[in-house]
Amino acid sequence: MTNKDLANLIFPNIDKDINFYLEKYPNRNLKEGEKVTRIAPSPTGYMHLGTMYQALINFMMAKNSNGIFYLRNEDTDTKREVEGALKLVIDTLKDYSIVPSEYEMDGNIYGNYGPYVQSERKEIYHAFIKHLIEIGRAYPCFCTKEDLEELRNRQEARKFRTGYYGKWAKCRLLPVEEQIKRIEAGQEYVIRFRSEGNFDHKFKTEDLVKGTLELPENDEDFVIMKSNDKLPTYHFAHIVDDTLMHTTHVVRGEEWLSSLPKHLELFKAFGFKAPKYVHTPLLIKKEENSVRKISKRKDPEASMTYYKEKGYPTIAVIEALMTIINSNYEEWHTANPDKRYDEFTYSPKKMSASGAFFDLEKLDNISRNIISKMKASEVYDNLIEWTHEYDLEFNKILSDNKEYSINIFNIEREQKKPRKDFVYYSDVKNQVWYMFNELFDKKEKEYDFQKITDKEEIVKICETYMAKYYDSSDDKDTWFNKMKLLCDELGYASDMKEYKLNPDKYKGNVADVSTVIRVSVTTKSMTPDLYEILKLLGIEEIKRRINLLK
Ligand code: GLU
Repeated sequence: MTNKDLANLIFPNIDKDINFYLEKYPNRNLKEGEKVTRIAPSPTGYMHLGTMYQALINFMMAKNSNGIFYLRNEDTDTKREVEGALKLVIDTLKDYSIVPSEYEMDGNIYGNYGPYVQSERKEIYHAFIKHLIEIGRAYPCFCTKEDLEELRNRQEARKFRTGYYGKWAKCRLLPVEEQIKRIEAGQEYVIRFRSEGNFDHKFKTEDLVKGTLELPENDEDFVIMKSNDKLPTYHFAHIVDDTLMHTTHVVRGEEWLSSLPKHLELFKAFGFKAPKYVHTPLLIKKEENSVRKISKRKDPEASMTYYKEKGYPTIAVIEALMTIINSNYEEWHTANPDKRYDEFTYSPKKMSASGAFFDLEKLDNISRNIISKMKASEVYDNLIEWTHEYDLEFNKILSDNKEYSINIFNIEREQKKPRKDFVYYSDVKNQVWYMFNELFDKKEKEYDFQKITDKEEIVKICETYMAKYYDSSDDKDTWFNKMKLLCDELGYASDMKEYKLNPDKYKGNVADVSTVIRVSVTTKSMTPDLYEILKLLGIEEIKRRINLLK
């Protein structure tokens, strides 16, 4: 009996050989330098910031080279699969305009190299596993969980490296006859790769981020096919898929670096050329005085949902990621303020090899700047979209008062140094609620009066102002001059210099008086331009609000 008999026993229905698939998925017609990259998420029902970061790098490499960026759904770990998980990934990528040109969704395959869902590629993997069995580079292993645990204990007790390798790999030595006998008897098994490596030998390999690496050869007979569902492990699927889909550059997290010798040995066993590797540093954050990995369990910002719920403009998140993806991005961006981020040329060499520091404070600053540069109507449109999903009450108010709302957002905007008070869309209502009567009336108000707190004095200032000095048709200078006249009338200094010289002569100064008016109509002592606010609120509303103080 031969390996071929064994292979046929294990895969009786697999009649296509690997050449069939190599021909079915021919080389892509790439021009020199065009790169093929992919994002290969495992569908967990959670889109990690790290997945976005990976996707962005892949996207940039493809885009820069006029190549292809595709998506493969790595759902072989069926225990973890969650319904709707793939949709979440694709929808998020679409939100960010990082759209793969090949992928699969709801049974529709877009692209010529599919299926792009691993669980639908079982037959393909089986053909490749069958081939390895035939050439003697893979074998069934009948070790149970207990056997493996016992092996581990023995290795640990004797201070050996743990794992299924060399003389410890017991099933490696079973004769074909025995293997066939056990399978026919119905014994459970996995398929393992038969390694020819020597752990004491080091070899050199290139990683585009880390440079030349010296790694020990793989000598582990690692599992390539699981027993229960007969699906391949990541290691095996990676080799088959990235070969058949003609990935030129594998961008993945550095947690895979230690498995690289396994992957390279597998490529070699098939006689395939390995892709280039870009192992990216982990996303890290500062915590008190140390840094640590951004974690799904501890950090809400690890989830892409966080950014959506807060209402960050997607471009702000991208910009923040770009700054950590390449150390020279910020400099480039400052020199080319009008260029889109995807005109930048990504270089793996300019990645930090140690850790990618993602800082929410920095994101907030980027976001603040981006929103401040938008036109008021753009802020309005984006806010309508965001509130439609997250705040229907505010959505209705904005929709019912479109022009008015745009005018509010236009205060101190579209000028050289625009106001930067909106960090994200969920923040806007907190900043502008007092401009909308409905929200103003509903609010438990806390008036932030500063120096002048006497109620009668406050009402007197406001009423005198409205009776004698406020005219909504005044231009800004006239308006301010009238505020000064109001001060003169009520015993406040209209001139700050004069006030500083003789503070005792006055009850206060023009800044104190305007603060009284500001707080009376908005409750806040810090707001955008008061002249604009009063104009937008209108005389009737100002008077109504003053009456509320009595
Ligand atoms: N499915 C793997 C993961 O989610 C993909 C790694 C890769 O890009 O090859 O980590």
